[in-house]
Amino acid sequence: MVLMGSELRPAVRELDAATTQDLLTHRRHLHAHPELSFKEDETARYISERLDAMGVDKLTRGAGGTGVVAEIRGDRPGRSVMVRADMDGLPITETADVPFRSTRAGVMHACGHDVHMAIALELARWLAGRRHELPGMVRFAFQPAEEQAGGAKAMIDAGVLDGIDRVVGLHVWSPLPTGQVAVPHGLVMASADMFTLTIRGKGGHGAQPHLTIDAVVIAAEVVTALQTLVSRETSPVAPVVITLGSVHGGTAANIVAGEVVIQGTLRTFDAELRRHLLTRIVEVAEGIAAAMRGSSEFRHDSGTPPVINDAAIAKLVSEAAGSVVGKEMVVPLEPLMVAEDFAYFLDARPGCFFMLGGAPEGPPVVHHTPEFRIDEQCLPIGFQVMSAAVLRLLQPD
Ligand SMILES: [Zn+2]
Ligand SMILES: [Zn+2]
Repeated sequence: MVLMGSELRPAVRELDAATTQDLLTHRRHLHAHPELSFKEDETARYISERLDAMGVDKLTRGAGGTGVVAEIRGDRPGRSVMVRADMDGLPITETADVPFRSTRAGVMHACGHDVHMAIALELARWLAGRRHELPGMVRFAFQPAEEQAGGAKAMIDAGVLDGIDRVVGLHVWSPLPTGQVAVPHGLVMASADMFTLTIRGKGGHGAQPHLTIDAVVIAAEVVTALQTLVSRETSPVAPVVITLGSVHGGTAANIVAGEVVIQGTLRTFDAELRRHLLTRIVEVAEGIAAAMRGSSEFRHDSGTPPVINDAAIAKLVSEAAGSVVGKEMVVPLEPLMVAEDFAYFLDARPGCFFMLGGAPEGPPVVHHTPEFRIDEQCLPIGFQVMSAAVLRLLQPD
């Protein structure tokens, strides 16, 4: 299949044992040395040293915190495409028995960001050796703190999207069999808002409730009422989740609590519904608290928009992926209720976020768990799909 007018072909035709070995070496090193969000100092050093050795055209360290940005400029005219790879691990202790197991207790690459970095690094090397045939410019954004959803915004504030026409990113996905790639043409993932409600009453003796304002009783009403925003105020065909995952208050059985702190998350696919429900969460909590003589204070801790692909760009990426893995291996994907801060890049530029199959052998594994593993066969596939996608997106059309 001919992907482009250029004589430059996707890496699939040139992938050799050395490239595959490089991918594994990067991935295993990064896997063994995971770091938490915004603390990716050694990771950034590993990446920037290698990019420097490749002779990239521009290398910026410390972008948006610990981020690393590198540019490779082709000798031919074309578009400017940004490839994003996230860098952070999670506060989890790995249980898998592999030689490259995390060397850091309590920190683990349990989402697969080590895979993303390895693919991006190797793609940078591959492109750096082909500037004479390369149309346009590719900027690599190694982004900190995806898991805390703060890194993408920090990098945008640092100017990572300046002069960029299109953005592309991938996520290795353990439920998807190796060899399959999912390129949604619209909705990929939900928005995610994290919030804290502080319910205040007046503490006192457990045997004299009439002299107190019981924050636990108010909180109980608030917790129940907030679920009605989903069941009674939202269309039954609109997917919404409100989860109140943490409720803390009180000190002893015979003391009325003066304060309860509720932490929750809101997930939806619709920007308007998201805004409406955030407002209603505040109104319902404040209204109930006031009716019961207390008060409620709302704090918005973080918010990520839904991940929505540009349909035209997704079509180009689908075709590129199909040229590598075969058309029938580019599969549909139901929108996921998880979130990704790649959403910020897609909010600002047309682009595509796709899922790379990486299901390991044996029992299924879930991202963000101590047992998380991936099938390393997905590395050369991901490299080839990403290189084909980038080459297609660089074309001026
Ligand atoms: Zn994750
Ligand atoms: Zn992730």
